[in-house]
Amino acid sequence: MIGSLPVGGGAPVAVQTMTKTETANLPATMEQINTVAEAGADIVRVAVPREQDAEALKAIVSQSPIPVIADIHFNHTLALKAIEAGAHCVRLNPGNIGGAEKVAEVIELAKARNTPLRVGVNSGSLPKHLRQLEYDNPVEALVTAAIETVTLMERLDFDNFKVSMKSTSVPNTIASNRQLAERIPYPLHLGVTEAGTKWSGSLKSAVGLGTLLADGIGDTIRISLSTFHAEEEVKVAWEILKALKLRERGPVLIACPTCGRLQFDMDTVVAEVERRLEAYEDPIEVSVLGCAVNGIGEARHADFGITGAKDMGMIYSKGEPLKKVPTAQLVDELFKEIDRYYAAGKTVQRDEAQAAEARERGRHCDDARANRGPGGGGGRERRSRGPGAALDARARLTARGARDGCGVLAGCRQALQPRLNAADAAGNRGCEGPRPTGPRGARRPWAS
Ligand code: SF4
Repeated sequence: MIGSLPVGGGAPVAVQTMTKTETANLPATMEQINTVAEAGADIVRVAVPREQDAEALKAIVSQSPIPVIADIHFNHTLALKAIEAGAHCVRLNPGNIGGAEKVAEVIELAKARNTPLRVGVNSGSLPKHLRQLEYDNPVEALVTAAIETVTLMERLDFDNFKVSMKSTSVPNTIASNRQLAERIPYPLHLGVTEAGTKWSGSLKSAVGLGTLLADGIGDTIRISLSTFHAEEEVKVAWEILKALKLRERGPVLIACPTCGRLQFDMDTVVAEVERRLEAYEDPIEVSVLGCAVNGIGEARHADFGITGAKDMGMIYSKGEPLKKVPTAQLVDELFKEIDRYYAAGKTVQRDEAQAAEARERGRHCDDARANRGPGGGGGRERRSRGPGAALDARARLTARGARDGCGVLAGCRQALQPRLNAADAAGNRGCEGPRPTGPRGARRPWAS
Protein backbone atom coordinates (compact mmCIF):
# COMPACT_ATOMS: atom_id res chain seq x y z
CA MET A 1 0.00 0.00 0.00
CA ILE A 2 1.10 3.55 -0.66
CA GLY A 3 -1.15 5.53 1.63
CA SER A 4 -4.56 4.01 0.95
CA LEU A 5 -3.60 2.91 -2.57
CA PRO A 6 -2.93 -0.78 -3.14
CA VAL A 7 0.14 -1.44 -5.28
CA GLY A 8 1.06 -4.81 -6.74
CA GLY A 9 -0.58 -8.13 -6.02
CA GLY A 10 -3.02 -7.73 -8.89
CA ALA A 11 -4.09 -4.16 -8.02
CA PRO A 12 -4.76 -1.88 -11.01
CA VAL A 13 -1.64 -0.32 -12.50
CA ALA A 14 -1.25 3.02 -10.71
CA VAL A 15 -0.44 6.27 -12.49
CA GLN A 16 2.35 8.25 -10.91
CA THR A 17 3.83 11.61 -11.78
CA MET A 18 6.26 14.05 -10.24
CA THR A 19 5.83 17.72 -9.43
CA LYS A 20 8.03 20.16 -11.28
CA THR A 21 7.83 22.89 -8.65
CA GLU A 22 10.26 23.79 -5.89
CA THR A 23 8.80 21.52 -3.23
CA ALA A 24 9.20 24.05 -0.44
CA ASN A 25 7.00 26.48 -2.38
CA LEU A 26 3.85 25.13 -0.81
CA PRO A 27 1.21 27.03 -2.82
CA ALA A 28 2.84 26.17 -6.16
CA THR A 29 3.43 22.55 -5.19
CA MET A 30 -0.10 22.07 -3.91
CA GLU A 31 -1.55 23.69 -7.01
CA GLN A 32 0.35 21.21 -9.18
CA ILE A 33 -0.57 18.26 -6.99
CA ASN A 34 -4.24 19.19 -7.22
CA THR A 35 -3.93 19.58 -10.99
CA VAL A 36 -2.35 16.16 -11.49
CA ALA A 37 -4.84 14.55 -9.12
CA GLU A 38 -7.65 16.09 -11.17
CA ALA A 39 -6.02 14.69 -14.33
CA GLY A 40 -6.04 11.21 -12.80
CA ALA A 41 -2.72 10.75 -11.00
CA ASP A 42 -2.95 8.08 -8.32
CA ILE A 43 0.39 8.96 -6.71
CA VAL A 44 2.59 12.04 -6.81
CA ARG A 45 6.31 12.24 -6.15
CA VAL A 46 8.02 15.40 -4.92
CA ALA A 47 11.76 16.11 -4.98
CA VAL A 48 13.32 16.56 -1.55
CA PRO A 49 16.85 17.83 -2.13
CA ARG A 50 16.99 20.33 0.79
CA GLU A 51 16.01 20.72 4.42
CA GLN A 52 13.25 23.19 3.58
CA ASP A 53 11.72 20.67 1.16
CA ALA A 54 11.64 18.05 3.90
CA GLU A 55 10.08 20.61 6.22
CA ALA A 56 7.33 21.37 3.67
CA LEU A 57 6.46 17.68 3.41
CA LYS A 58 4.25 17.57 6.49
CA ALA A 59 1.89 20.21 5.07
CA ILE A 60 2.02 18.67 1.59
CA VAL A 61 1.13 15.21 2.91
CA SER A 62 -1.77 16.54 4.95
CA GLN A 63 -3.18 18.64 2.09
CA SER A 64 -2.60 16.27 -0.83
CA PRO A 65 -5.62 14.39 -2.17
CA ILE A 66 -3.33 11.56 -3.34
CA PRO A 67 -0.42 9.69 -1.71
CA VAL A 68 2.92 11.52 -1.74
CA ILE A 69 6.31 9.94 -2.40
CA ALA A 70 9.39 11.82 -1.21
CA ASP A 71 12.22 11.56 -3.72
CA ILE A 72 15.58 11.39 -1.96
CA HIS A 73 19.09 11.16 -3.31
CA PHE A 74 22.47 11.23 -1.56
CA ASN A 75 21.26 12.30 1.88
CA HIS A 76 19.87 9.69 4.25
CA THR A 77 19.02 12.35 6.83
CA LEU A 78 16.45 13.76 4.41
CA ALA A 79 15.00 10.27 3.99
CA LEU A 80 14.61 10.01 7.75
CA LYS A 81 12.95 13.41 7.89
CA ALA A 82 10.61 12.52 5.04
CA ILE A 83 9.46 9.40 6.87
CA GLU A 84 8.97 11.40 10.05
CA ALA A 85 6.97 13.98 8.08
CA GLY A 86 4.54 11.24 7.14
CA ALA A 87 5.47 10.74 3.48
CA HIS A 88 3.38 7.86 2.15
CA CYS A 89 6.46 6.39 0.49
CA VAL A 90 10.13 7.31 0.08
CA ARG A 91 12.09 6.80 -3.10
CA LEU A 92 15.63 5.82 -2.31
CA ASN A 93 18.54 4.73 -4.41
CA PRO A 94 20.58 2.67 -1.92
CA GLY A 95 23.59 2.97 -4.23
CA ASN A 96 23.96 6.69 -3.63
CA ILE A 97 22.80 7.11 -0.06
CA GLY A 98 26.19 6.71 1.61
CA GLY A 99 26.65 3.05 2.49
CA ALA A 100 24.86 0.08 3.98
CA GLU A 101 24.73 1.53 7.51
CA LYS A 102 22.83 4.59 6.39
CA VAL A 103 20.48 2.47 4.31
CA ALA A 104 19.89 0.29 7.39
CA GLU A 105 19.07 3.36 9.46
CA VAL A 106 16.41 4.41 6.94
CA ILE A 107 15.00 0.89 6.78
CA GLU A 108 14.68 0.72 10.56
CA LEU A 109 12.59 3.88 10.64
CA ALA A 110 10.57 2.80 7.60
CA LYS A 111 9.74 -0.45 9.37
CA ALA A 112 8.80 1.37 12.56
CA ARG A 113 6.50 3.76 10.69
CA ASN A 114 5.26 1.18 8.19
CA THR A 115 6.45 3.43 5.36
CA PRO A 116 7.01 1.69 2.03
CA LEU A 117 10.05 2.49 -0.06
CA ARG A 118 10.70 2.55 -3.73
CA VAL A 119 14.22 1.28 -4.27
CA GLY A 120 16.03 0.81 -7.49
CA VAL A 121 18.64 1.84 -9.94
CA ASN A 122 19.13 4.21 -12.83
CA SER A 123 21.32 3.50 -15.82
CA GLY A 124 23.07 6.80 -15.14
CA SER A 125 24.10 5.97 -11.57
CA LEU A 126 25.04 2.33 -11.40
CA PRO A 127 27.50 1.30 -8.65
CA LYS A 128 31.19 1.52 -9.56
CA HIS A 129 31.79 -2.23 -9.50
CA LEU A 130 29.23 -2.64 -12.32
CA ARG A 131 30.72 -0.03 -14.66
CA GLN A 132 32.58 -2.53 -16.84
CA LEU A 133 29.52 -4.79 -17.00
CA GLU A 134 27.44 -1.76 -17.92
CA TYR A 135 29.77 -1.17 -20.84
CA ASP A 136 29.74 -4.84 -21.91
CA ASN A 137 26.08 -5.66 -21.18
CA PRO A 138 23.95 -2.76 -19.95
CA VAL A 139 20.87 -4.93 -19.41
CA GLU A 140 22.73 -7.39 -17.21
CA ALA A 141 24.31 -4.50 -15.31
CA LEU A 142 20.89 -2.98 -14.57
CA VAL A 143 19.41 -6.29 -13.46
CA THR A 144 22.44 -7.12 -11.32
CA ALA A 145 22.24 -3.74 -9.59
CA ALA A 146 18.52 -4.16 -8.94
CA ILE A 147 19.00 -7.68 -7.57
CA GLU A 148 21.78 -6.44 -5.29
CA THR A 149 19.40 -3.80 -3.94
CA VAL A 150 16.66 -6.34 -3.37
CA THR A 151 19.14 -8.65 -1.63
CA LEU A 152 20.15 -5.79 0.67
CA MET A 153 16.50 -5.12 1.55
CA GLU A 154 15.93 -8.80 2.31
CA ARG A 155 19.08 -8.95 4.43
CA LEU A 156 17.63 -6.07 6.43
CA ASP A 157 14.42 -8.08 6.77
CA PHE A 158 12.42 -5.46 4.87
CA ASP A 159 9.91 -6.36 2.19
CA ASN A 160 7.67 -3.30 2.03
CA PHE A 161 9.08 -1.94 -1.20
CA LYS A 162 8.68 -1.73 -4.94
CA VAL A 163 11.57 -1.78 -7.36
CA SER A 164 12.40 0.43 -10.30
CA MET A 165 15.05 0.05 -12.92
CA LYS A 166 15.27 3.04 -15.17
CA SER A 167 17.12 3.46 -18.42
CA THR A 168 16.99 6.05 -21.17
CA SER A 169 17.06 3.16 -23.65
CA VAL A 170 13.68 1.68 -24.54
CA PRO A 171 15.08 -1.76 -25.54
CA ASN A 172 17.13 -1.92 -22.33
CA THR A 173 14.10 -0.91 -20.25
CA ILE A 174 12.05 -3.69 -21.82
CA ALA A 175 14.72 -6.38 -21.59
CA SER A 176 15.86 -5.57 -18.04
CA ASN A 177 12.34 -5.40 -16.62
CA ARG A 178 11.40 -8.65 -18.30
CA GLN A 179 14.39 -10.32 -16.68
CA LEU A 180 13.80 -8.74 -13.29
CA ALA A 181 10.10 -9.67 -13.29
CA GLU A 182 11.19 -13.32 -13.65
CA ARG A 183 13.54 -13.09 -10.71
CA ILE A 184 11.83 -11.12 -7.95
CA PRO A 185 8.32 -11.18 -6.45
CA TYR A 186 8.09 -7.47 -5.61
CA PRO A 187 5.99 -4.83 -7.40
CA LEU A 188 7.74 -3.01 -10.23
CA HIS A 189 7.62 0.67 -11.03
CA LEU A 190 8.11 1.34 -14.74
CA GLY A 191 9.42 4.33 -16.60
CA VAL A 192 11.71 5.34 -19.40
CA THR A 193 13.90 7.90 -17.75
CA GLU A 194 14.49 11.28 -19.41
CA ALA A 195 12.23 10.14 -22.23
CA GLY A 196 12.17 13.53 -23.94
CA THR A 197 9.63 16.03 -25.12
CA LYS A 198 5.89 15.54 -25.01
CA TRP A 199 5.94 14.11 -28.51
CA SER A 200 9.02 11.87 -28.52
CA GLY A 201 8.81 11.05 -24.82
CA SER A 202 5.22 9.92 -25.12
CA LEU A 203 6.09 7.63 -28.00
CA LYS A 204 9.14 6.15 -26.28
CA SER A 205 7.13 5.59 -23.12
CA ALA A 206 4.21 4.09 -25.01
CA VAL A 207 6.52 1.62 -26.75
CA GLY A 208 8.61 0.75 -23.69
CA LEU A 209 5.96 0.71 -21.01
CA GLY A 210 3.24 -0.50 -23.33
CA THR A 211 5.30 -3.56 -24.26
CA LEU A 212 5.94 -4.43 -20.62
CA LEU A 213 2.38 -3.75 -19.52
CA ALA A 214 1.10 -5.93 -22.34
CA ASP A 215 3.35 -8.67 -20.92
CA GLY A 216 1.65 -8.21 -17.55
CA ILE A 217 4.73 -6.50 -16.07
CA GLY A 218 4.48 -3.29 -14.04
CA ASP A 219 2.48 -2.05 -11.08
CA THR A 220 3.03 1.70 -11.17
CA ILE A 221 4.08 3.82 -14.13
CA ARG A 222 5.47 7.27 -14.64
CA ILE A 223 5.82 9.00 -18.00
CA SER A 224 8.83 11.32 -17.83
CA LEU A 225 8.29 14.29 -20.12
CA SER A 226 10.23 17.51 -20.53
CA THR A 227 7.35 19.77 -19.61
CA PHE A 228 6.45 21.86 -16.60
CA HIS A 229 2.90 20.58 -16.93
CA ALA A 230 3.00 17.35 -14.96
CA GLU A 231 -0.62 16.66 -15.85
CA GLU A 232 0.56 15.96 -19.41
CA GLU A 233 2.50 12.98 -18.07
CA VAL A 234 -0.67 11.75 -16.40
CA LYS A 235 -2.74 12.07 -19.56
CA VAL A 236 -0.18 10.07 -21.56
CA ALA A 237 -0.07 7.38 -18.87
CA TRP A 238 -3.81 7.06 -19.02
CA GLU A 239 -3.87 6.81 -22.76
CA ILE A 240 -1.39 3.91 -22.56
CA LEU A 241 -3.47 2.13 -19.93
CA LYS A 242 -6.69 2.78 -21.82
CA ALA A 243 -5.19 1.58 -25.10
CA LEU A 244 -4.23 -1.70 -23.43
CA LYS A 245 -7.65 -1.88 -21.74
CA LEU A 246 -5.92 -2.15 -18.39
CA ARG A 247 -7.91 0.68 -16.86
CA GLU A 248 -10.81 2.87 -17.82
CA ARG A 249 -11.00 6.57 -17.24
CA GLY A 250 -13.15 8.97 -19.16
CA PRO A 251 -14.29 8.68 -22.75
CA VAL A 252 -12.42 6.84 -25.47
CA LEU A 253 -12.17 8.80 -28.70
CA ILE A 254 -11.71 6.90 -31.94
CA ALA A 255 -10.86 8.92 -35.02
CA CYS A 256 -9.93 7.80 -38.50
CA PRO A 257 -6.65 9.00 -40.01
CA THR A 258 -8.56 10.62 -42.91
CA CYS A 259 -7.72 10.12 -46.55
CA GLY A 260 -8.61 11.50 -49.94
CA ARG A 261 -12.29 10.81 -49.26
CA LEU A 262 -12.50 13.50 -46.62
CA GLN A 263 -14.69 16.46 -47.47
CA PHE A 264 -14.96 18.46 -44.27
CA ASP A 265 -12.70 20.03 -41.69
CA MET A 266 -12.14 16.91 -39.64
CA ASP A 267 -9.10 18.27 -37.77
CA THR A 268 -11.26 20.93 -36.17
CA VAL A 269 -14.14 18.54 -35.52
CA VAL A 270 -11.93 15.92 -33.82
CA ALA A 271 -10.23 18.57 -31.68
CA GLU A 272 -13.60 19.98 -30.63
CA VAL A 273 -15.03 16.54 -29.84
CA GLU A 274 -11.92 15.69 -27.81
CA ARG A 275 -12.16 18.99 -25.91
CA ARG A 276 -15.84 18.56 -25.08
CA LEU A 277 -15.38 14.93 -24.05
CA GLU A 278 -13.05 16.06 -21.28
CA ALA A 279 -16.16 17.14 -19.36
CA TYR A 280 -17.36 13.50 -19.17
CA GLU A 281 -16.08 10.94 -16.69
CA ASP A 282 -17.82 7.87 -18.04
CA PRO A 283 -15.76 5.59 -20.34
CA ILE A 284 -18.11 6.25 -23.23
CA GLU A 285 -16.69 5.40 -26.68
CA VAL A 286 -17.11 8.03 -29.38
CA SER A 287 -16.02 7.58 -32.94
CA VAL A 288 -15.31 10.32 -35.48
CA LEU A 289 -14.93 9.10 -39.05
CA GLY A 290 -14.18 11.15 -42.08
CA CYS A 291 -16.75 9.53 -44.31
CA ALA A 292 -19.36 6.79 -44.50
CA VAL A 293 -17.28 4.40 -46.62
CA ASN A 294 -16.50 2.35 -43.57
CA GLY A 295 -18.24 4.63 -41.14
CA ILE A 296 -21.12 2.45 -40.04
CA GLY A 297 -19.01 -0.66 -39.72
CA GLU A 298 -16.16 1.03 -37.91
CA ALA A 299 -18.50 2.91 -35.59
CA ARG A 300 -20.48 -0.23 -34.77
CA HIS A 301 -18.86 -0.80 -31.38
CA ALA A 302 -18.87 2.90 -30.42
CA ASP A 303 -21.54 4.22 -28.11
CA PHE A 304 -21.84 7.19 -30.41
CA GLY A 305 -20.25 7.96 -33.73
CA ILE A 306 -20.31 10.60 -36.41
CA THR A 307 -19.36 10.52 -40.03
CA GLY A 308 -18.96 13.71 -41.96
CA ALA A 309 -19.42 14.78 -45.54
CA LYS A 310 -19.33 18.08 -47.35
CA ASP A 311 -22.77 19.28 -46.34
CA MET A 312 -24.53 16.59 -44.35
CA GLY A 313 -23.17 14.24 -41.71
CA MET A 314 -24.61 11.33 -39.77
CA ILE A 315 -24.84 10.45 -36.11
CA TYR A 316 -24.80 6.79 -35.12
CA SER A 317 -25.16 4.76 -31.99
CA LYS A 318 -23.72 1.24 -31.98
CA GLY A 319 -23.62 1.30 -35.76
CA GLU A 320 -27.27 2.28 -36.14
CA PRO A 321 -28.05 5.68 -37.68
CA LEU A 322 -29.72 8.12 -35.29
CA LYS A 323 -30.09 11.09 -37.56
CA LYS A 324 -28.53 13.10 -40.34
CA VAL A 325 -27.49 16.63 -39.57
CA PRO A 326 -25.78 19.46 -41.41
CA THR A 327 -22.04 18.98 -41.05
CA ALA A 328 -21.70 22.39 -39.41
CA GLN A 329 -23.97 21.18 -36.56
CA LEU A 330 -22.47 17.72 -36.26
CA VAL A 331 -20.57 18.30 -33.04
CA ASP A 332 -23.39 20.16 -31.28
CA GLU A 333 -25.91 17.51 -32.26
CA LEU A 334 -23.58 14.70 -31.23
CA PHE A 335 -23.30 16.14 -27.73
CA LYS A 336 -27.04 16.72 -27.54
CA GLU A 337 -27.47 12.99 -28.21
CA ILE A 338 -24.84 12.09 -25.64
CA ASP A 339 -26.48 14.32 -23.02
CA ARG A 340 -29.89 12.86 -23.83
CA TYR A 341 -28.39 9.39 -23.35
CA TYR A 342 -27.17 10.25 -19.87
CA ALA A 343 -30.36 12.12 -18.94
CA ALA A 344 -32.30 8.94 -19.80
CA GLY A 345 -30.11 6.75 -17.57
CA LYS A 346 -27.71 5.67 -20.28
CA THR A 347 -30.38 4.76 -22.78
CA VAL A 348 -30.04 5.85 -26.38
CA GLN A 349 -32.93 8.12 -27.33
CA ARG A 350 -33.98 7.28 -30.86
CA ASP A 351 -36.45 9.38 -32.87
CA GLU A 352 -37.77 6.80 -35.32
CA ALA A 353 -38.62 9.35 -38.04
CA GLN A 354 -35.13 10.84 -37.91
CA ALA A 355 -33.53 7.40 -37.75
CA ALA A 356 -35.53 6.25 -40.79
CA GLU A 357 -34.47 9.35 -42.70
CA ALA A 358 -30.86 8.69 -41.76
CA ARG A 359 -31.13 5.03 -42.75
CA GLU A 360 -32.53 6.08 -46.09
CA ARG A 361 -29.54 8.28 -46.62
CA GLY A 362 -27.29 5.46 -45.52
CA ARG A 363 -28.76 3.19 -48.16
CA HIS A 364 -27.52 5.52 -50.82
CA CYS A 365 -23.93 5.92 -51.56
CA ASP A 366 -22.41 8.26 -49.02
CA ASP A 367 -19.11 6.74 -49.94
CA ALA A 368 -19.44 7.80 -53.55
CA ARG A 369 -20.22 11.31 -52.49
CA ALA A 370 -17.36 11.35 -50.03
CA ASN A 371 -15.05 10.31 -52.84
CA ARG A 372 -16.28 12.85 -55.34
CA GLY A 373 -12.86 14.48 -55.53
CA PRO A 374 -11.95 17.60 -57.42
CA GLY A 375 -14.63 18.86 -59.73
CA GLY A 376 -17.30 17.02 -57.86
CA GLY A 377 -18.90 19.95 -56.18
CA GLY A 378 -16.54 22.47 -54.58
CA GLY A 379 -16.37 23.12 -50.89
CA ARG A 380 -13.57 22.08 -48.59
CA GLU A 381 -11.85 19.05 -50.04
CA ARG A 382 -8.82 17.08 -49.10
CA ARG A 383 -7.09 14.41 -51.13
CA SER A 384 -4.35 11.92 -50.55
CA ARG A 385 -1.01 13.49 -51.17
CA GLY A 386 0.53 10.57 -53.01
CA PRO A 387 0.62 10.49 -56.80
CA GLY A 388 -1.81 7.51 -56.95
CA ALA A 389 -3.18 6.89 -60.42
CA ALA A 390 -5.69 4.55 -58.79
CA LEU A 391 -6.92 7.38 -56.60
CA ASP A 392 -7.34 9.60 -59.61
CA ALA A 393 -9.35 6.85 -61.31
CA ARG A 394 -11.55 6.57 -58.26
CA ALA A 395 -11.97 10.32 -58.03
CA ARG A 396 -13.02 10.49 -61.68
CA LEU A 397 -15.53 7.72 -61.18
CA THR A 398 -17.09 9.31 -58.14
CA ALA A 399 -17.13 12.72 -59.77
CA ARG A 400 -19.17 11.12 -62.50
CA GLY A 401 -21.42 9.72 -59.80
CA ALA A 402 -21.89 13.23 -58.50
CA ARG A 403 -23.18 14.30 -61.90
CA ASP A 404 -25.17 11.22 -62.84
CA GLY A 405 -26.34 9.97 -59.47
CA CYS A 406 -29.78 9.64 -58.06
CA GLY A 407 -30.26 13.24 -57.09
CA VAL A 408 -30.68 12.50 -53.39
CA LEU A 409 -27.01 11.83 -53.12
CA ALA A 410 -24.19 12.40 -55.48
CA GLY A 411 -23.36 9.04 -57.03
CA CYS A 412 -24.91 5.62 -56.65
CA ARG A 413 -23.24 2.53 -55.23
CA GLN A 414 -25.08 0.17 -57.54
CA ALA A 415 -23.85 1.91 -60.63
CA LEU A 416 -20.36 2.71 -59.53
CA GLN A 417 -19.36 0.10 -56.99
CA PRO A 418 -17.83 -2.47 -59.36
CA ARG A 419 -15.61 0.15 -60.90
CA LEU A 420 -14.83 1.72 -57.54
CA ASN A 421 -13.80 -1.71 -56.34
CA ALA A 422 -11.52 -2.06 -59.32
CA ALA A 423 -9.96 1.30 -58.56
CA ASP A 424 -9.53 0.25 -54.94
CA ALA A 425 -7.93 -3.01 -55.96
CA ALA A 426 -5.44 -0.99 -57.95
CA GLY A 427 -4.18 0.66 -54.80
CA ASN A 428 -6.59 3.04 -53.09
CA ARG A 429 -7.43 1.23 -49.88
CA GLY A 430 -9.02 4.03 -47.94
CA CYS A 431 -8.55 3.73 -44.20
CA GLU A 432 -7.10 0.23 -44.42
CA GLY A 433 -3.82 1.85 -45.46
CA PRO A 434 -1.17 0.12 -47.50
CA ARG A 435 -0.70 -3.60 -47.19
CA PRO A 436 2.42 -4.59 -45.27
CA THR A 437 5.28 -5.79 -47.36
CA GLY A 438 8.37 -7.83 -46.60
CA PRO A 439 9.06 -10.32 -43.81
CA ARG A 440 7.19 -9.81 -40.56
CA GLY A 441 7.92 -9.86 -36.89
CA ALA A 442 11.57 -10.86 -36.63
CA ARG A 443 12.12 -11.05 -32.87
CA ARG A 444 14.45 -8.33 -31.73
CA PRO A 445 17.71 -9.45 -30.10
CA TRP A 446 16.84 -7.71 -26.81
CA ALA A 447 13.48 -9.44 -26.53
CA SER A 448 14.89 -12.64 -25.16
FE1 SF4 B 1 -11.63 8.26 -42.80
FE2 SF4 B 1 -11.65 5.76 -43.76
FE3 SF4 B 1 -13.39 7.59 -44.72
FE4 SF4 B 1 -10.81 7.78 -45.33
S1 SF4 B 1 -12.20 6.08 -45.93
S2 SF4 B 1 -12.12 9.45 -44.62
S3 SF4 B 1 -9.83 7.08 -43.46
S4 SF4 B 1 -13.33 6.75 -42.63
